[in-house]
Amino acid sequence: MKILVIGAGPAGLIFANQMKQAQPGWDISIAEKNTQDEVQGWGVVLPGRPPRHPANPLSYLEQPELLHPQFLEEFKLVHHDQPKLMSTGVTLCGVERRALVQALRAKCVAAGIAIRYEVAPVSKAQLEAEYDLVVLAHGVSHKALALPPALAPRIAFGRNKYIWYGTTQPFDQMNLVFRANDTGVFIGHAYRYSDTMSTFIVECSEQTYARAELEMRTERAAAAYLARVFEPELGKHGLFSQPGQSWRNFMTLSRDKAGDGKFVLIGDALQSGHFSIGNGTTMAVVSALLLVKTLASEAGTAAALDSFNARVLPLVQLFREHADSSRLWFETVGERIGLGNAELSASFDARRQDLPPLQDALMATLGYALSR
Ligand SMILES: Cc1cc2nc3c(=O)[nH]c(=O)nc-3n(C[C@H](O)[C@H](O)[C@H](O)COP(=O)(O)OP(=O)(O)OC[C@H]3O[C@@H](n4cnc5c(N)ncnc54)[C@H](O)[C@@H]3O)c2cc1C
Repeated sequence: MKILVIGAGPAGLIFANQMKQAQPGWDISIAEKNTQDEVQGWGVVLPGRPPRHPANPLSYLEQPELLHPQFLEEFKLVHHDQPKLMSTGVTLCGVERRALVQALRAKCVAAGIAIRYEVAPVSKAQLEAEYDLVVLAHGVSHKALALPPALAPRIAFGRNKYIWYGTTQPFDQMNLVFRANDTGVFIGHAYRYSDTMSTFIVECSEQTYARAELEMRTERAAAAYLARVFEPELGKHGLFSQPGQSWRNFMTLSRDKAGDGKFVLIGDALQSGHFSIGNGTTMAVVSALLLVKTLASEAGTAAALDSFNARVLPLVQLFREHADSSRLWFETVGERIGLGNAELSASFDARRQDLPPLQDALMATLGYALSR
């Protein structure tokens, strides 16, 4: 079996590595469009303590401690300048995205999986001629490759603007901060992901973005303006942006089917979900492990992809519903901003309560994917 994985992010890397372990004789390689050094984003939160949590990609590394993961067990909501501290209910693990991706890449290479960088897109016909299976793990970038019509993406953009900053201020809890000024409400999502750095995502409505003239400011001036908005949290620490991480509206990419013919989608390429539920990487890991399981246990690729479609699509739909509910809560937060801290916290907690629990569905799928 000759497999090409397109995209060397968490989904593609976990798939390639675990598939090679399950089928050492298979020829698996990875094509990545960026250079080896280019990894987008600051830190992410993952579930549980490695190596105990199988949805945490650090659990697949020999020495996860080398990535200096930060364990977070408290959630702090700040509104009207008052903090409300709660338990997260579960242990969360903050980690630098770049360090995670580079460690997973090194593990793939050590397992004999070649990774080619700066690879230009090739045609669907060429891929079909050369490979038995093409695993599309290229995240939300969806324009480079023309896929079978059944796998066409559906794209929707959120109404809020957001930007993914890093900061040297250490946030020891998962922080959700609401700060209002005469232009509107700014929301900060902040947590520590290494010994020295925290993620700091800023979100606001398009009206607030326009009134604060963020589009007109240079990147540095916009970061300085927001550092002043969040000065009570940041003190003298600044906000840093990365090339390629400018202001954007969150893009939700969805597909009606995961696999068709010789093509199969995993991770964000299959379904992206708003960062406020923090489960994108978990979905990448779970969909990758489920694909490994179906390919390793079903007789032939067609049967494996049928089984993968049947099992992954209900999970993907539930993930989308949770992510959309959460995104909508943030997009309509102006309606609730007059509430007191306790009421706003309760409303935040309840934003996904009408849906079946996502964690149960993730763990059930993971249980099947890891059964031998
Ligand atoms: C602001 C923000 C905060 C987030 N916070 C969290 C969090 O706290 N926890 C969490 O779990 N998730 C979080 N996520 C989501 C998480 O980053 C993604 O869900 C996760 O990275 C998906 O992994 P992936 O491998 O599917 O895609 P990606 O990580 O996007 O990797 C895709 C790879 O494919 C490559 N590629 C793209 N196009 C091509 C092509 N044509 N050919 C070859 N290679 C290509 C890319 O360069 C990249 O290396 C966040 C997302 C955002 C935007």
